[in-house]
Amino acid sequence: MTILSRSTTLVLGLSLTACTTPAVDPSLERSIGGIEAVDDHAHPTLQLAPGAKPDTEYDALPLDALPPMTLPARLRADHPDWIAAQRAVKALAIKTPVEALDNAGIDVMLSNRIALGPGLTPPRFRWISFVDALMLPLDGRLEAARTPDTRSLYALETKLLHRYMNDLGVAKLPASLDEYVAAIVTPTLERQKKLGAVAVKFEAAYLRALDFDDPNAGVAHLVYSRFASGGTPGRAEYKALQDYLFRVIAREAGRLGLPVQIHDTDIAGSFYSAKGSDPFLLESAFNDSTLRATKFVIVHGGWPLVTHTLTLLAKGNVYADFSLTGMVAEPRQLANTLRMWLNEYPDRVLFGTDAFAGGPDQTWEAGALLATNSARRALGLALTRMLRDGVITRERAEQLARMVMRENAVALYGLGTGGAATTGAAARSVPEPGMPARSVPERSASARSAP
Ligand SMILES: [Zn+2]
Repeated sequence: MTILSRSTTLVLGLSLTACTTPAVDPSLERSIGGIEAVDDHAHPTLQLAPGAKPDTEYDALPLDALPPMTLPARLRADHPDWIAAQRAVKALAIKTPVEALDNAGIDVMLSNRIALGPGLTPPRFRWISFVDALMLPLDGRLEAARTPDTRSLYALETKLLHRYMNDLGVAKLPASLDEYVAAIVTPTLERQKKLGAVAVKFEAAYLRALDFDDPNAGVAHLVYSRFASGGTPGRAEYKALQDYLFRVIAREAGRLGLPVQIHDTDIAGSFYSAKGSDPFLLESAFNDSTLRATKFVIVHGGWPLVTHTLTLLAKGNVYADFSLTGMVAEPRQLANTLRMWLNEYPDRVLFGTDAFAGGPDQTWEAGALLATNSARRALGLALTRMLRDGVITRERAEQLARMVMRENAVALYGLGTGGAATTGAAARSVPEPGMPARSVPERSASARSAP
């Protein structure tokens, strides 16, 4: 009886402690909530005038081009977190893209689009261009026939390459591979840089496996010369050329100081190759000693193969963002990943949202809010546990938070020379009446308007 009473008291005592100890350290939560974030990866849409034609440039390979697919539960428009984020954004009557950033506490959104445009302008929005099209100069009919997903996607890349060629005033493909690189690949990358791109992005995992093998240059040259003026290369032939061009593009991007982002997660599309997007497939390219001047970013962190990503961060020029994962995984799951990465490579981990327009019930503005709140929560959980376990000091926890949410990206993309990331333009912007002020240190992340 006595023993029973004691254990009852003990259990009660424990649960009281559990109730009074918040999962995220309140002071840490406040500092994380006050960090002006730099979003490593997102697809915001243009601010269109009434009657303007719809924005089709928010992605080179938009998901609506694919046959119906199953999305993870937390990514669906009917998930309670999405509904709450949509409501919050609607209630605030957000009118401009900049207001959407203010609402989410994002200073700079790195915008992965075919081009920027109305409402999406520096310094708050910085451009990341698409470069898969440069890797795919030949007839991709055999590649496209591979799955119902790839059928429409290759045609979109061909269209984009023609646009790039048109921008340069080049009407047809040159006869040799060296001429193609000199007349189209390099000038397109240089042009993108001149137009303000801070990085380039591959979405190749939608199209093929990420095994960009050590290329046979002789074969690549032969395949290009043989098919540049017509005909369809075999799949192995085309792969040899693509592998070669991937490394040329990555090398040129490195020379121009443009980091290379690579989409890497287990979705999207019903015929998407999860195995083909294992981060380990990128090791061959990452181990190319001629590419060490190029910085690579594993976008979406290779989720859920995050331990593979961890080992790749050891390469010295490899980074990972956790865009999208803040919407796919619950904060506690993401917190476990962040803790693992931060213990080993704290200067390589980047916050990102992957805010995208998924339809009227899933706006990018709501996605930005949902993903940012989720990320702040996950980071708070990870750092609180590290703090309570005595692994890091409070000062270090706050420093790690700043690195992940902002400083690592500022350093990687060279945002340190002007722009909102350093001038604090975001902090000076005046909120619309009725819109909560943002980035005030005394406001906690949980006080933001979505879960
Ligand atoms: Zn994306």
